[in-house]
Amino acid sequence: MAGKDYYEVLGVPRGAPKEKIKEAYRNLALQYHPDRNKSPEAEERFKEISEAYAVLSDDEKRKQYDAYGKEGVYQRYSQEEIFRGADFGEFFRGGGFGGFDEVLQQFFGGAGVRRERAGDDLTYHLQLRLEDITKETAKEIEVPRSEVCGVCGGSGAKPGTTPKVCSACGGTGQVQKVQSTGFARLVRVMQCSKCGGRGQVVESPCKECRGRGTVSKTRRIRVMIPAGVEDGQTLRLRGEGSAGENGVPPGDLYVMINVFPHQTFRRDGSDLFMETRVGVVGAMLGAEVSVPTLYGDVRLTVPPGTQPGEMFKVKGKGLPKPGGWGNGDQYVRVNVVVPKKLSGSQKELLGKLGDVN
Ligand SMILES: [Zn+2]
Ligand SMILES: [Zn+2]
Repeated sequence: MAGKDYYEVLGVPRGAPKEKIKEAYRNLALQYHPDRNKSPEAEERFKEISEAYAVLSDDEKRKQYDAYGKEGVYQRYSQEEIFRGADFGEFFRGGGFGGFDEVLQQFFGGAGVRRERAGDDLTYHLQLRLEDITKETAKEIEVPRSEVCGVCGGSGAKPGTTPKVCSACGGTGQVQKVQSTGFARLVRVMQCSKCGGRGQVVESPCKECRGRGTVSKTRRIRVMIPAGVEDGQTLRLRGEGSAGENGVPPGDLYVMINVFPHQTFRRDGSDLFMETRVGVVGAMLGAEVSVPTLYGDVRLTVPPGTQPGEMFKVKGKGLPKPGGWGNGDQYVRVNVVVPKKLSGSQKELLGKLGDVN
């Protein structure tokens, strides 16, 4: 991958002074900057001249190039290191051109672009009882999260100072590591270690947040719990997650609902199931029993001739259906209790009853 000679690319003689190189680059950049020149070759050409300028304007890199050619430069510097330190700022600041970030974007494609990261999403596990969800309720939960520092407004810089563009990554937050193995060049994109991926370095950090731009706070947040919420359902609270760095939007808070199993009721959607006991005589002759519901006790009429395991419906005493479509029902299964011990007179009576059948 010899490519074109850097001097040829810029149209300057070998040994040209720095000023000449700068001038040549300025003229060519005006011609090929992708903001101005929309022809498909312009981008490639712009990249080419920018690389040539980055190397030839740097004494160390130029020496390496003069001695070993392009391969020598590639072996010693990663793509990203080639551009690092070269002052493109003076060309692209103002003047209707995109800023330095856009220039780097041209060079590195997607990999070099600093992604706008939102803050972290948070998950909170909220445990509820069936009693809690018979109607819509507000719950206050305490969420430890990071919030934008009130002192520096999130910049991380001491008030009155501003963060500087990271010199190690040129503000992209990422660096490329190039490994040469024989003829193959492996390029790995890694987070910049100097700035931790922020693309900026704070020289005099804010005392409150120690330069992080965010502070840890435990915040009380009001969550509206829909009536009849299902176990395992997740509620999303947009923007209630952790604060983002450098003013990017905060993440979301996910409240995962866990509804405890109930001692008395088994739940199936908005219907509830429970069991109750009735004596043999009650089952045969009919009885009134008191059964609990989530809304207080009710009287249930067990009709004469009730069979063991028979199910009765208590209308509307289940959980609210989603969307406000009324309530589910409560089903009561009747277990008939057969006495284990009988007195002599009881036996006598039952014996007579047996003769009837
Ligand atoms: Zn701060
Ligand atoms: Zn950096």
